[in-house]
Amino acid sequence: MSYPWPAGARAAVCFTIDFDGESPHLWRTRNQPGEAVGELEQRRYGPRRGLANLLSMMDNLDLRATVFVPGWIADRYPWQVREIAERGHELALHGWCHEPPTTLDRSDLARTLGRAADTLAGISGVRPAGYRSPSWDMNQTIFGVLHELGIGYDSSLMGDDRPYLVDGLVEVPVDWATDDAPYYRYVGGDPRPPATAPALRGGWAAEIEAAGRHGSLCMITVHPWLSGRPARVDALESLLAPVVADPALCTATAGALAEHHRERAGGSGISLDGFDISLDDLGRPDHD
Ligand SMILES: [Zn+2]
Repeated sequence: MSYPWPAGARAAVCFTIDFDGESPHLWRTRNQPGEAVGELEQRRYGPRRGLANLLSMMDNLDLRATVFVPGWIADRYPWQVREIAERGHELALHGWCHEPPTTLDRSDLARTLGRAADTLAGISGVRPAGYRSPSWDMNQTIFGVLHELGIGYDSSLMGDDRPYLVDGLVEVPVDWATDDAPYYRYVGGDPRPPATAPALRGGWAAEIEAAGRHGSLCMITVHPWLSGRPARVDALESLLAPVVADPALCTATAGALAEHHRERAGGSGISLDGFDISLDDLGRPDHD
C-alpha cells in the first residue's frame, strides 16, 4: 500500500538539523570536565558559523527544516535560535543538555524536557510539538512524559520508512544512513578520515532516488558543526536543489508530516499501514 504523502507527492524528503553544538561533549564529560578545549571548539563551529551557513543555504532553496535544539543550547545561543524561528523553520526538543533519556528517571525526564520546552517557547513564542532523543536513544518511560508535555511526535526511531504510531505518538522515523555524523564526525585518533562531501552527496542522492521509487521517507539529519562547513554546505545545496524543484517529492517539516499522518489516520489511533504499536503489547516492565 502506498503511503498518501501530502499534496499527492510520491515520496518525502525531510531535512532536519540537530543543533546541539557542544552539549553532547559537556554531558559526556560532566563528571570530569578537564581543561581540553579541542573538541569543544570543533563543536562550537556549529553555533558560531555552521548554523548560519545552513540557514543561508536553505533560504537559497526556499526549504524549511525542523531544527532540534537542546534547552541548554537555546539558553546559551538565543540569538541563533531566534534566527531559526524568524526564518520560518520548526523548533523541536532535543533534551536539556543532550542527556539520553535512558540515563534519567521519569521525574528528571519531565523536569528537563519541560524546562527545554519553556526555553524554546520563550525565545520563539511557539511551544515545540516534537521531540528527537539525543543519540536516538529511547526508552518506554519517555512516551508518557512526552504525552504529558503535549508533544505530538517523536523522530528518533527506525521501525519504518514512513510515519507510524508508537503508543499514540506519531513517529517520523530516522535512519543512520542519512545522518551526517557517521560520515563526518572526526575528533582525532580515528584511523579513518571523514567522508568527502562529494562521496556523501552521491550516497544520499541514491537514498533520495530510492525513496522516490519506493514511495518512502528519506529523513536527512545534519549537525551544524559537521555539515555547516563550506564544501559540505555546497554539497547539500546541490543535492537538495533538484529535490525542492521536484513536485513529486514532499519536503515538509517533521511537524507537518506528523500532523498529516495524524489527520489521515483520523485520530483514532489506527495507523495507515496497520503499524500502530503499543509498547504495552511488548511487555512493559513493572519498574518503569
Ligand atoms: Zn544530538
